[in-house]
Amino acid sequence: MEIDAAKCVGCGNCVPFCTMGAIRVENDVAVVNEDECVECSTCYRCCGPEGLRATFVRGLRRLFRALHLRYDAPLDVCPTGALVPPELKWPRSLRRAFSDPTVTHDSTGMAGRGTEEIKTNDITGRIGPGEAGIVIDLGRPGTGVFFRDIDTMTRALAQLDVFFEPQNPLTHLMNDPQNGSLRKDIANEKVLSAIIELKIKLADLPEVLHLVEKTATALDTVISVGVSTKCDPEGGIPHESICSGAGYPLSLNGKTNLGLGRPVEGMS
Ligand code: SF4
Ligand code: SF4
Repeated sequence: MEIDAAKCVGCGNCVPFCTMGAIRVENDVAVVNEDECVECSTCYRCCGPEGLRATFVRGLRRLFRALHLRYDAPLDVCPTGALVPPELKWPRSLRRAFSDPTVTHDSTGMAGRGTEEIKTNDITGRIGPGEAGIVIDLGRPGTGVFFRDIDTMTRALAQLDVFFEPQNPLTHLMNDPQNGSLRKDIANEKVLSAIIELKIKLADLPEVLHLVEKTATALDTVISVGVSTKCDPEGGIPHESICSGAGYPLSLNGKTNLGLGRPVEGMS
């Protein structure tokens, strides 16, 4: 995000809206830490321009200060419209693609993190009996994640017998899904979060989960992991006992998606 220093009056309204804590006010002007900014545009969307002239606002504040009063703009506006979403070039444009939920990923045609994950498996049938779908969610507001850390995880996973989901924007950024390496030119770009998706044999689940846990210790971010399998004919969850046996009891907060559509042929 860019801030027009000539317009900014340093009111600080945009500061608490920043998902990465990347905005600070110095000498009555807001400044963005460009390394930390993930171009999510939350500050811009939350602080609509009020359309006042900077000279007017500064004069008003000076007058009020002299009278021992105080003028503050409403909290959800940028009084002078000083926040300016910039034109982004590659590879910085990836920050916005992954971090601004209003932007659609070119690679998958989906907004947000660019994937339906495995939530729609009843319709897509990507994960079949005897298989497990895994999502590894890296980054969160306040921490974000660099692609170099995602690359560390994808390359580690590629050493096992895994299949990276093709309809996922991270898979599209791989040089070669066989070795899991991401493009080198994006390594130092940071995004709010991103999801690695893969399919494995159900029997390999403990090995994959242990590898994810071990690899995560080297990453400068937080991760959460989701596992998904098709229920068996009795309604049981095939991965439940496997995860518990491997030392990862399922969270009570897990999601269960029930028959959102017609099962694809052969998947019932
Ligand atoms: S675009 Fe997002 S990360 Fe960047 S300054 Fe605005 S809120 Fe913060
Ligand atoms: S809301 Fe606008 S005027 Fe206020 S500090 Fe942020 S950019 Fe500057």
